Amino acid sequence: MMPGYGKVDAVLRSLNGATEISKEIRDANFILERLEMKQQLTDLAGYISVAKMELSLLQHSIEEKDQQLLRQAEALAYKGNIKRRGDGYYRTADNRPYGQPYCSYCWEHDQQLIHLHNRVLSNDIRICPHCKNEYQNARTPYIEADLLAV
Ligand SMILES: [Zn+2]
Repeated sequence: MMPGYGKVDAVLRSLNGATEISKEIRDANFILERLEMKQQLTDLAGYISVAKMELSLLQHSIEEKDQQLLRQAEALAYKGNIKRRGDGYYRTADNRPYGQPYCSYCWEHDQQLIHLHNRVLSNDIRICPHCKNEYQNARTPYIEADLLAV
């Protein structure tokens, strides 16, 4: 995202610019040279289109924040049920890890639960589809939930 854009004060600046122009037109009692009028309208349209662009950037950044909040809420809900084992994180049942490992980098870095995948043509390496970190399969095993009952 461009710095200085998608900010409320940037939107207000553009709208103020548009307000200034309409004030100038009004102050001239709506009597302007054709060329001057054309220039004013061009500036007015410019301010409005910048405001529109800034608003859409603002909306985008609000949506990103919403996503982030959602992830954090999810992370909090999971926190007590996620446990590290070897190089991965696992869901737990009765405080014991089971199932497919989650990427420890993604969990520790931004509370995202991303399942590790086996790397194509390799049974020894797992890879995180998100951050591309690689893990040894032996350090991130699949843990059968059934074994917990034993
Ligand atoms: Zn990852």
